Amino acid sequence: MKVHLRQIPPDGLHLEGEEDCLIPDLESEGVRCVAPMQYNIDIGVSEGSLWANGSLNQPVELTCVGCLEKFVHDIKVPAFALHTELLGPETVDLGPFMREDILLNLPAHPRCDREGGRVCKATVAIAAAAETKRKSDWSALDKLKLKK
Ligand SMILES: [Zn+2]
Repeated sequence: MKVHLRQIPPDGLHLEGEEDCLIPDLESEGVRCVAPMQYNIDIGVSEGSLWANGSLNQPVELTCVGCLEKFVHDIKVPAFALHTELLGPETVDLGPFMREDILLNLPAHPRCDREGGRVCKATVAIAAAAETKRKSDWSALDKLKLKK
């Protein structure tokens, strides 16, 4: 995601669009991009430095730590911001900055039910096991009562 400094007007530039996945190397770790990254940023140049701020969104497929099923999650960077000194070249690659922020917002222990849209099978299994145990506790108690 390269920007040409000459194309940035004095009062800044609004950029909106899609960019290829910046984290293709994470696929081996179970993080797979399922759509391009969407960006919506403002950039500008002032006093020898480049600034940018806005938001990013990268839809990825993750593996749930609970049930090991794959699910789609949007890695959102609601407050992407950068400020970097311009050291000569006329183009600046925003990719590495964006990648860093996406990685920071990547959930370390992804769970498929973290957004409340679905119920994790692991949670269901734990609840079912607890229910079975509760019932068997009661039946043990019933047997105890019968003995009396
Ligand atoms: Zn799950």
